[in-house]
Amino acid sequence: MWHDLYRKTLLGVADAPFIESVAKKQGMKIGVSRFVAGETLEEALPALEKLEQSGLAINLDLLGEFISSEGGAEEMTLQILDTLERLEKTSLERYMSVKPTQFGLGLSRDLGLKNAERILSKAQAVNAHICLDMENYPYLEPTLWLYQSLREKGFANVSTVLQSYLHRSMSDLKSLLELDLKPTLRIVKGAYRESPEVAFQDKAKVDASYREMVYAGLDAGAKINIATHDEGLINEIKAYLRGANLSKDHYEFQLLYGVKLGLQQSLAQEGHKVRIYVPYGKDWYGYFSRRLAERPANLMFVLRGLTG
Ligand SMILES: Cc1cc2nc3c(=O)[nH]c(=O)nc-3n(C[C@H](O)[C@H](O)[C@H](O)COP(=O)(O)OP(=O)(O)OC[C@H]3O[C@@H](n4cnc5c(N)ncnc54)[C@H](O)[C@@H]3O)c2cc1C
Repeated sequence: MWHDLYRKTLLGVADAPFIESVAKKQGMKIGVSRFVAGETLEEALPALEKLEQSGLAINLDLLGEFISSEGGAEEMTLQILDTLERLEKTSLERYMSVKPTQFGLGLSRDLGLKNAERILSKAQAVNAHICLDMENYPYLEPTLWLYQSLREKGFANVSTVLQSYLHRSMSDLKSLLELDLKPTLRIVKGAYRESPEVAFQDKAKVDASYREMVYAGLDAGAKINIATHDEGLINEIKAYLRGANLSKDHYEFQLLYGVKLGLQQSLAQEGHKVRIYVPYGKDWYGYFSRRLAERPANLMFVLRGLTG
């Protein structure tokens, strides 16, 4: 209960422009590098290589979100295309997450689709997978529409995300399973501040919805990316996977860079596919503040950095 309150308060405070500008001035001093692999791809490469060498798969995320101009969306699209090109020159797996408001979906559906097609075409050419991250509630329907439009246009190298804290997610899952033969879906609890009208506020309900969505997706033959650090839930899901005797192609575990390193390794050592979401880029503030909101101890770590 107090944890939910902490999370909502921190996400609210983090939205204030004054807090954002103070945090950005402090930069890496406040511990950003624990969650963000670097401000440039060059800086992030050693972390990516180290993860792959230790048996973990990677999912690269070029930070940036809620772009408010066409020029900004064009610039981000070019940066994503450039990242795909540069990934091709490495031996790393080509797997990226992108945020639809990064390349213009928040400005118009047409612009979002046009830029997504450019990204997906490039990804196809370099044999990359693209996941459309799920942002806050106003972008849920546009993102699901975008995902469906891309699938209808024949792109198979695309997946998206559903958030178990939303009341409607189970029904969105069922619609996707009906429309789309074998979608690949990442299931998360949800990272944004949403109102009680649209989202469960109670952890037990978010967790129950999470469990149900993962089981429903697996039962329907979708590929489910189980993206949580909740060890209780993970243990229950592992028991379910054993009972269902599902092959490794049907699921993977996904965790965030810098979070629960022991769990990342132990899941991999047990033989599960484990993919780490690795963000990089200069626009780290929104991502970083969501990570602080998830765990009070993370905020203490920042405060110690500021005062130490
Ligand atoms: C790979 C991946 C991709 C994601 N993509 C999206 C997305 O597209 N859209 C979206 O809305 N959300 C996304 N999220 C974030 C997600 O919605 C949650 O906000 C986040 O994962 C925390 O919830 P949890 O499932 O780990 O469970 P919780 O119940 O919050 O946490 C479970 C345990 O993990 C620990 N933990 C959780 N977060 C942290 C942290 N930041 N630092 C240290 N310990 C932590 C907690 O302290 C607790 O012990 C993603 C998460 C992952 C792992």
